[in-house]
Amino acid sequence: MNDLDYGKRNKRGDWSPNGKLEVAPMWRKPFSLKAVLKWIPDFLFPWSTFHLATTLLYWFFVIPDVDTMKTLSWDWGLYLLAVNMACVFVFYGAFEYLLYRKRTQANDFKYNGKFPNDSKSDVFWFNDQHIDNFLRTFIFSVPLWTLVEVLFLYAFAAGMVPWVSWTDNPYYLAGLMLLAPAIHEAHFFCIHWVMHQEPVYKWVHKIHHNSINPTPWSSLSMHPVEGFLYHAVAFWHLIIPSNPVVAIYQLHMAGFGAINGHFGFERIKLGKSGKYIPSEAYPHYLHHKYFDVNYGGEGLVPLDQWAGTWHDGTKEGDALMAARFKKKKEKMAAKAGS
Ligand SMILES: [Zn+2]
Ligand SMILES: [Zn+2]
Repeated sequence: MNDLDYGKRNKRGDWSPNGKLEVAPMWRKPFSLKAVLKWIPDFLFPWSTFHLATTLLYWFFVIPDVDTMKTLSWDWGLYLLAVNMACVFVFYGAFEYLLYRKRTQANDFKYNGKFPNDSKSDVFWFNDQHIDNFLRTFIFSVPLWTLVEVLFLYAFAAGMVPWVSWTDNPYYLAGLMLLAPAIHEAHFFCIHWVMHQEPVYKWVHKIHHNSINPTPWSSLSMHPVEGFLYHAVAFWHLIIPSNPVVAIYQLHMAGFGAINGHFGFERIKLGKSGKYIPSEAYPHYLHHKYFDVNYGGEGLVPLDQWAGTWHDGTKEGDALMAARFKKKKEKMAAKAGS
């Protein structure tokens, strides 16, 4: 597979895909049932299925029994923290090691021609993006992910919220699981947009944006406020009648799914098989590159399109963004002048 059959590389060595990013087919005009049916496998595989698999592994092999979780205690909290840390280390670490240390696919499908470890920057701890991002992930984000997890598991186990059972309501819960990616996008869009407003941006979200050329370790490199709000998406299942399995799925979609926006590559090569999996990283890569675009995800809920902040990766997308920045600048100048 040659990446130039799927995109182009500029003089700086940055690769970009052909075609344009599109919102989910339900929102495109004119509506096409064929397009929706064609999209369903991409919606389910490989990432949603992966999150479902980790959810089930956790539920059956990791999560303590309900009686234990009826009482808040450090025992099971620290145990969950240890498991989460180990899983994040293996999952994120494997991609980081292969793509950025060993560089197994070199610049194949790589958006930014440069590798962050080829240069130092004083915005990072120890002047090193990888070390900085790695430490922030383990010092702040994974403990906050675990805190969210402990709190909602306790709320379910202690009977503080309704526990909808799979036996009585299988279709409702399956429907809720299908809705989980949409809940994720809507939640992320809202907290993310707020974090881009001053002074919240410079206090909180700037840390995440230090990584202009993100790698897997950048995914959860967040200020603690962001680390908590981001994973708090699972708390929606304390408001919507739900089940802890669905809440764990929602949490994993945030925690493990954060990698999707930060691979830095359009496709990930699977060993020597010659097969690639899609990273789904381009919309969020454009967010790291251009900053004031693509606050949500891939357009499953087209909030960016409705807000006028959608960048589809084309020249037209560039022009729309430039026009919006110009308007914003004029507005600010007028405000300063009056
Ligand atoms: Zn941002
Ligand atoms: Zn990001």
